[in-house]
Amino acid sequence: MTTGQVFERIRTLSSELGFKDTPHLEMDDLVSDVAGQEHGNIRIREREYGKLSDAEKCVIMAHEWGHYAEKQIRERFFDGVEISDEMISDWYVAYLGFCSELKAARGYGAEYNKIVDLFEDPRAFGKRISTWELRKLAGLTET
Ligand SMILES: [Zn+2]
Repeated sequence: MTTGQVFERIRTLSSELGFKDTPHLEMDDLVSDVAGQEHGNIRIREREYGKLSDAEKCVIMAHEWGHYAEKQIRERFFDGVEISDEMISDWYVAYLGFCSELKAARGYGAEYNKIVDLFEDPRAFGKRISTWELRKLAGLTET
């Protein structure tokens, strides 16, 4: 898939799930990482992004879209929960239907994968998770 096709796919999935706003897509080989999001722009370093598998491209684009839509996601699913922006973005990847692709693409290790396992039912995760449970899963609390 071309970068534009991946962008359209994620836009369509996001729109179907009620996230109507669309960021700008910028392809810029001078971006500091393979992809990033700031000020409503998803920026892609095409030189490297273009070489990834379609699954990896979708995971990365959905993750950056998650950063873009973070405020809405927090309001709709994680109201009052202390959850990091990176976790919100990865949850959004799963919410759009790419949970197994996310697990394959992200090599954060066993502890993080336990959390990603919970994303398999993203709606349920968003409804039931609490700050305390997240801290426990992350090994930040003993009780
Ligand atoms: Zn991120």
